[in-house]
Amino acid sequence: MSETKPPPPAEAATRAEAARRDLMSRLPAFLADLQTLVNLDSGTFDRDDVERVSAWVRGRCADWGAKLDEHPGGDFADSFAATLYGQGRVRIALLAHLDTVFPHGTAAARPFRIEGDRTLGPGTCDMKAGLLAAIYAVEALRSGGFDGFGRLQLICTTDEEVGAPSSRGFLERQAAGADAVLVLEAGRENGDIVGQRRGGGFFRLEVTGRSAHAGVEPEKGRSGHAARRQPAQCGARSCRRRGGRARQYH
Ligand SMILES: [Zn+2]
Repeated sequence: MSETKPPPPAEAATRAEAARRDLMSRLPAFLADLQTLVNLDSGTFDRDDVERVSAWVRGRCADWGAKLDEHPGGDFADSFAATLYGQGRVRIALLAHLDTVFPHGTAAARPFRIEGDRTLGPGTCDMKAGLLAAIYAVEALRSGGFDGFGRLQLICTTDEEVGAPSSRGFLERQAAGADAVLVLEAGRENGDIVGQRRGGGFFRLEVTGRSAHAGVEPEKGRSGHAARRQPAQCGARSCRRRGGRARQYH
């Protein structure tokens, strides 16, 4: 696909090994950056918090001399794409989101920490470590002097955790024409990567009932919990019938 011929396998292996060594030497810096990012709350609805994480990432992309395209997020923080152009033809997009499901104050309550070989803290897995992996991957290519791509992008959205209401169109436009889009979400516990997802949906349910203390006089209530679970369970069953997997969030 590339105008510039792909390097012979031996040369590619040498380059990959050099990148691996470069990245391993930067592991302490990676962990320090991860600590910085995880300790910055960025709950989807806390616009200013997400903007702070965004400013940190954009600053890093600016160091590469990347072209920055920003997209106004309205109630959400602005999404952006950082684009580098190279000498080849293949167009690669790395996709990450800056928001987490954790509201303001979570990081102060349980900040980043390392236990054995695990890093913990709100949003570490979903997906600040993945976001940082994208940044370090681009930097490894740059330090190895590799520009055999046509276009290399890092696309960062700010409202993924609520279904990307503000960023979806921007993401689709930015990723248009990409030969590959790599989503830097965490893999599975056993190390597997996720090749595709079937989809997702968000539903808003309004339920009326009669309140009663669940521990003292549950028989007096018209259970809001039961009413709320029923439609969700129906949805889960019909999802499974269609070959999907359902997961409920309360
Ligand atoms: Zn995620």
